[in-house]
Amino acid sequence: MGRPEFWSIRQLSRDPAHHPAVTLLAEGNYDGDTDVLDDVEHLILTRGEVVRAARATLAVDEPDISPSSHCETPFPCEFASYCRASLAPSPEWSVTILPNGGGKKWMGQGTDDLTGIDPAGLTNEVHRRVHAATISGHPFHNPEAFRAGPAVWPYPRTWLDFETIAFAVPRWIGTRPFEQVPFQFQPTSSMSTASLNIRSF
Ligand code: SF4
Repeated sequence: MGRPEFWSIRQLSRDPAHHPAVTLLAEGNYDGDTDVLDDVEHLILTRGEVVRAARATLAVDEPDISPSSHCETPFPCEFASYCRASLAPSPEWSVTILPNGGGKKWMGQGTDDLTGIDPAGLTNEVHRRVHAATISGHPFHNPEAFRAGPAVWPYPRTWLDFETIAFAVPRWIGTRPFEQVPFQFQPTSSMSTASLNIRSF
């Protein structure tokens, strides 16, 4: 439970100490049976001012700002679907699928449709592959290169496999609801192409 929610409960004249959620979640951490009322009390002292400022923002016109990279950094903005609704529809295959920022050059030239660019302007081999696969509709496979890489790895070889769990209500400090947390690790070792030793519990 975050500070705004806690503040809201108080504004509704309910006793947060007896609200079931207060003892369940506090800032994403839950250790089983801790009453977090004292921990969050000081955190909500400024909530009233924050809400007043938010209401003042809502009372004026929307700022004239177009969606851009700032909508994703430092985290994805929750209003993206609202702001992008007024933009022209994106092409089916945007230049942004070119890896490592390969689309920026084309966006700077006013082109966002990968299918409409001149491939002669692609100087990166991976970008050429992505473009060719997009235009042809045939995925790029290189099985020889795939086999050649591991062929030179020395024995013994060991792989680390792991399983994860995602609690709706976090059980461990520092984790969030539905966060995937690795909990079981399993080594698989191989002495030769003919042996595979799996160890687990
Ligand atoms: S999506 Fe969010 S960050 Fe981007 S313009 Fe809209 S409100 Fe601003």
